[in-house]
Amino acid sequence: MIHNCVIIGSGPAGYTAAVYAARANMAPVLYTGHEPGGQLMITTDVENFPGYPDGIMGPQMMDDLRKQAERFDTKVISDMITKVDFTGPVHKIWTESGEEVHAHSIIISTGASAKWLGIPSEEKLMNKGVSACAVCDGFFFKGMEVAVVGGGDSAAEEASYLAKLCPTVHLLVRRDELRASKIMQDRVINTKNITVHWNTSTVEILGEEEVDGVKVVNNITKEESEIPLKGFFVAIGHTPNTKIFDNWIDMDDTGYLVVKPGSTFTNIEGVFASGDAQDRIYRQAVTAAGTGCMAALDAERYLTEKGII
Ligand code: NAP
Repeated sequence: MIHNCVIIGSGPAGYTAAVYAARANMAPVLYTGHEPGGQLMITTDVENFPGYPDGIMGPQMMDDLRKQAERFDTKVISDMITKVDFTGPVHKIWTESGEEVHAHSIIISTGASAKWLGIPSEEKLMNKGVSACAVCDGFFFKGMEVAVVGGGDSAAEEASYLAKLCPTVHLLVRRDELRASKIMQDRVINTKNITVHWNTSTVEILGEEEVDGVKVVNNITKEESEIPLKGFFVAIGHTPNTKIFDNWIDMDDTGYLVVKPGSTFTNIEGVFASGDAQDRIYRQAVTAAGTGCMAALDAERYLTEKGII
């Protein structure tokens, strides 16, 4: 059997693509991957997705999106895609459980994963003050002291965003310089309530039920100290989940899939990319959903032009 449309990934991009594809009679099949629901499953309140005046919990939103996709007869399968062959015209993918699946069109919505420091207290206090998204969670720390870890554009952006809400933002930079672009460096240095701690690494995040502070070490003097704070934001980069598309889909130097501007077309006919896997800049649920919609519309036009539907 050759499916009309297989969607890989179950975040806002994947489920939105499924809703559109299913309503266009494409009978989509969606593979959820290992983390059904994607990054929103580790978010608490989502207050910036349009249409929810009281906000919504991330897992609830993903549950609703899944139900909406299934209501229009999307087949949702809990399995992971581990290998692809886009030689075409029929695309082949393989699941972890050993199934070989054939499809006329593929929508990639495998998302990206935040990088973490990998220390035990970070996992223990996840969503209890530890976050990887200032735009999502910063509001909860309004009026409180927070820290951001990292020295790249993401960390600079997160720190600048939080500086509008918090009295002091401690930026913990492991070297004596920022990797961020010049303009973002200038913004950080010129923002009065951002305190940059150079040559500083995190030893432990402090607190039992919620974050109370952070123990840091100066990498030059080896001196340890504690900073009391309530929010701890990790901004040391994201990794797009695109490894299985290596040597098939064009990527930038950090692994984000490249699409034709203003569309979801990849370099392979019939393969479309949506969501964070192709978005290194915005990375929001609403933008992911938007590109998921675009991918389904692009796939529908492709299948129609080929006379498949
Ligand atoms: P990045 O450029 O890779 O920077 C990661 C930062 O985290 C670096 O400063 C790195 O330190 C630090 N870091 C890594 N592991 C660490 C650890 N274990 N402990 C402490 N610090 C650690 O990542 P990014 O900032 O997410 O940016 C990714 C790409 O997206 C970049 O090309 C960036 O320009 C782009 N971006 C653009 C925008 C925009 O244009 N608006 C916004 C965000 C991101 P070292 O410097 O010592 O390696």
